[in-house]
Amino acid sequence: MLKKGLTVLAVLAVFGSASRAQNAGNVVNNVAQTIGATNLKSLQYSATGITASLGQSYRPFEEGPQFKATYSRSVDFEKGVSRQELVRTQLLDPPRGAGGQPLYTESRAGGVQSEEAGFNANSLALTIPHGWVKAAMTANPTAQSLTIGRRPMTMVSYTAKGMYKVRGYINSENLLEKVETWLPNEVLGDILVETSFSDYRDFAGVKFPTKIVQKQGGLPSFEYNVSNVQPNAAVTLEAPAPRPPAAQKVEPLKFAEGIWYLSGGGVNSALVEFKDFAVVVETGQDQSRALANIAQVKRMVPNKRIVQINSHHHSDHVSGLRDWISEGATIYTHAMNREYYDLLLRNPWTLHPDAYARTPKEGKFVYVRDKEVLTDGDRTMEIHWIRGNLHASNLLMSYLPKEKLLIVTDIFNMFYVPRPNDPPDGYSTPYTMNLWENIQRLKLDIAHIFPAHGREVVPFAELRQKIEGRPSINPPVR
Ligand SMILES: [Zn+2]
Repeated sequence: MLKKGLTVLAVLAVFGSASRAQNAGNVVNNVAQTIGATNLKSLQYSATGITASLGQSYRPFEEGPQFKATYSRSVDFEKGVSRQELVRTQLLDPPRGAGGQPLYTESRAGGVQSEEAGFNANSLALTIPHGWVKAAMTANPTAQSLTIGRRPMTMVSYTAKGMYKVRGYINSENLLEKVETWLPNEVLGDILVETSFSDYRDFAGVKFPTKIVQKQGGLPSFEYNVSNVQPNAAVTLEAPAPRPPAAQKVEPLKFAEGIWYLSGGGVNSALVEFKDFAVVVETGQDQSRALANIAQVKRMVPNKRIVQINSHHHSDHVSGLRDWISEGATIYTHAMNREYYDLLLRNPWTLHPDAYARTPKEGKFVYVRDKEVLTDGDRTMEIHWIRGNLHASNLLMSYLPKEKLLIVTDIFNMFYVPRPNDPPDGYSTPYTMNLWENIQRLKLDIAHIFPAHGREVVPFAELRQKIEGRPSINPPVR
């Protein structure tokens, strides 16, 4: 009897899942036919709108700064390859936050991406309804009926790349309204990425949304108004050759006894040795860089307590903070970051677990307001809040009075090539001018600067040259 019962249950289970899968297949097929995805081999479209720099906000928890955007994409669905181009210009007046601001000229980004090589917020399945349909068709989806805001919807779910849950919401007109997934973020762990599609129009027999809006972690990442769609356009694209991640090479440049500039990897760090502890300024541009910095510091100053100075909350300066905490480092950061850093220690990190996710630790934080001093009786380092800088509300700089050395992040960088945030001739940027005003206010006696990006040790005279007789100017908003 028991055996019979189990058999009946097993049959029901097979029927249940088969009928759900079939329903989901029908739902996806209906969407495919409605929007013209079935015979769509390639596509080109362009859009204008707004893009935001995630992780680059003026204050923690704020939206990333917005830019005017011109965007275009060519897609070869058969090869799973696409090319994107994004041109950004300044929108905020005055500039506020980072993301390359202040942009005096346009900033261009883009490149060719292969679906096979990875899964990210720009993947075809997450940004184009036809891409979602093609992915769902081959992914053994399931379907579920829902009512959202009194409207009947069908949610079709599948798992991408064996680990990412993808959900598409389909309305009664067989149009995909929204796609959700969760992706690993190096600062915040697992974050919800949601893309909404609306105002579908017909373009040569293919229905395409003329409004596409994406949010990541609840904050806007782009809002595009699509203006031009060409189905089955002649698109010639090849998948880029797979490249293994570049090995992180930390190059210590000795500045003085016990002071090194740890160069390379996008964001340079500084290492300053004290009698019974060592200070590292800057975590590293990303997690792999932070891990390389940790290994290097342990080799250079073994068995010393580590103090990590976190200049501010931007993604390229806070990635890897959890790894430093896992190593037992004490973090000095501005008090404005307290709740944000509490969150990044609490958030789920299941998709790309780090050491902290495997073994959580109590974070040791010292919250700086205006000034803190680290000393061993001989060497002294001052940590100052940079007041009133629109790059970030919570920006800290470090100063060694005896060595006349300033370690500063993001608001004074020297590069070998021109950049869109170089001010016009005869002017300075408001961010650098504010740094200068803070140096005057604090009466800091400086001979050299360690900038976190770009060129290494810079004589103080070069900062003076960028400011004296050069009024600061905000970039034009076009
Ligand atoms: Zn920054």
